[in-house]
Amino acid sequence: MGRVLVMLTAAAAVVACSVATVMVRRRMKGRRKWRRVVGILKDLEEACETPLGRLRQMVDAIAVEMQAGLVSEGGSKLKMLLTFVDDLPNGSETGTYYALHLGGSYFRIIKVHLGGQRSSLEVQDVERHSIPTSLMNSTSEVLFDFLASSLQRFIEKEGNDFNLSQPVKRELAFTFSFPVKQTSISSGVLIKWTKGFAISEMAGEDIAECLQGALNKKGLDIRVAALVNDTVGALSFGHFHDPDTIAAVVFGTGSNACYLERTDAIIKCQNPRTTSGSMVVNMEWGNFWSSRLPRTSYDLELDAESMNSNDMGFEKMIGGMYLGDIVRRVILRMSLESDIFGPISSILSTPFVLRTNSVSAMHEDDTSELQEVARILKDLGVSEVPLKVRKLVVKICDIVTRRAARLAAAGIAGILKKVGRDGSGGGRRSDKQIMRRTVVAVEGGLYLNYRMFREYMDEALRDILGEDVAQHVVVKAMEDGSSIGSALLLASSQSVQTIPSV
Ligand code: ADP
Ligand code: MG
Repeated sequence: MGRVLVMLTAAAAVVACSVATVMVRRRMKGRRKWRRVVGILKDLEEACETPLGRLRQMVDAIAVEMQAGLVSEGGSKLKMLLTFVDDLPNGSETGTYYALHLGGSYFRIIKVHLGGQRSSLEVQDVERHSIPTSLMNSTSEVLFDFLASSLQRFIEKEGNDFNLSQPVKRELAFTFSFPVKQTSISSGVLIKWTKGFAISEMAGEDIAECLQGALNKKGLDIRVAALVNDTVGALSFGHFHDPDTIAAVVFGTGSNACYLERTDAIIKCQNPRTTSGSMVVNMEWGNFWSSRLPRTSYDLELDAESMNSNDMGFEKMIGGMYLGDIVRRVILRMSLESDIFGPISSILSTPFVLRTNSVSAMHEDDTSELQEVARILKDLGVSEVPLKVRKLVVKICDIVTRRAARLAAAGIAGILKKVGRDGSGGGRRSDKQIMRRTVVAVEGGLYLNYRMFREYMDEALRDILGEDVAQHVVVKAMEDGSSIGSALLLASSQSVQTIPSV
């Protein structure tokens, strides 16, 4: 009996020992996997670092590239496109105007009435719709017929009111958020598509003519009287409300900026016949590139798999279309290298399945259990991950968004440097008297809806400029600024029809 007991006890000890060994091995394996994932996170953090010194190098690089783009056509990755806009709205405009805005994710139609005073600006109707994805790689005919039909419905809704109040032909500003080489304020040819659009055989086509043709086909009595880049619309809106506005930046699906430049600095334009001595320049800054940009393997993969690889490098780091996909790629890498996200989800392998609005929802999830993160991960086919993994995901969102926002701030500071509003000109930094109030209009869904992006950007801009200068720089957010501003610009430019030669 005693022997049996001893043997049983020994057997139990052996079983306990092997269970313990398995558990210890499992725990060690788990720890190794966790360490691997933490290593991936650390690598990401290091690769995305944007210390102040590096941001200042970016500021210099942007100002240098701006200069190069103004000197000669093709002289820089920044196209620095002429807009033929020399006078910005100031509040005295009158009349009723329409704008149709083709953005990267949305198209909008608005109608505004101007009564000759800032306070009398009346936005009479606004419509905002998602752009059906099928349109993004359709044909020119399908795209413009779709826009014309949408406008037709918008106008039909208003009945005869327009003609009763103002018996003149309707005038429309076409706000177009893609690179265009303007030939006048009301015409210009498409340079290339960006932001996932790929409508064949459109490069080189006059965009305003395409829209006008589609409107005529529908028998709509409306004239496309201005073709306006969205940033220029935003600048017009900013300037209408505040004449100290000298630049505008859009952070939406993509990203771009424009600013007011002295015509004598636009060396590539031989004969800039402007009355004001300045012209708005559309930078097309999405294509900015510098070897100093903190690029990661995820950016390289995203670029290689995109339909415009080796193009729009800056936009792919800061545009709302891309931030979600960078975060997705990091999570996917982690899930491939360890099983902390459970079995590999095929959903997670789908490009662009994680949208940037989900990134901001996860980043700003303030529930103690990170329930929003859990919900979004579940939608991605990743369920029931522990809290520490959910925290890891929040950290990834933070790293990717912080980098984007800080690079965006460097871009703005680059413009300020180019126009001598960064306080660095001629060692005058300490002389507060000569610092003029400078307003930068900012719009776009990313900036307006993503608080952490906004806060990181504002903080980085203050750090780059320093308090003394930053107190003179106002970043003003505006909703629908590009669409409304384009209509305002149309109103103020009614008499400007001449085309300076380039
Ligand atoms: P468009 O680029 O068509 O002019 P918007 O300026 O409204 O349109 O920008 C839309 C983009 O803004 C979306 O594609 C998305 O990337 C980003 N965005 C919208 N809402 C949010 C949000 N809540 N958080 C983060 N990004 C957002
Ligand atoms: Mg936009």
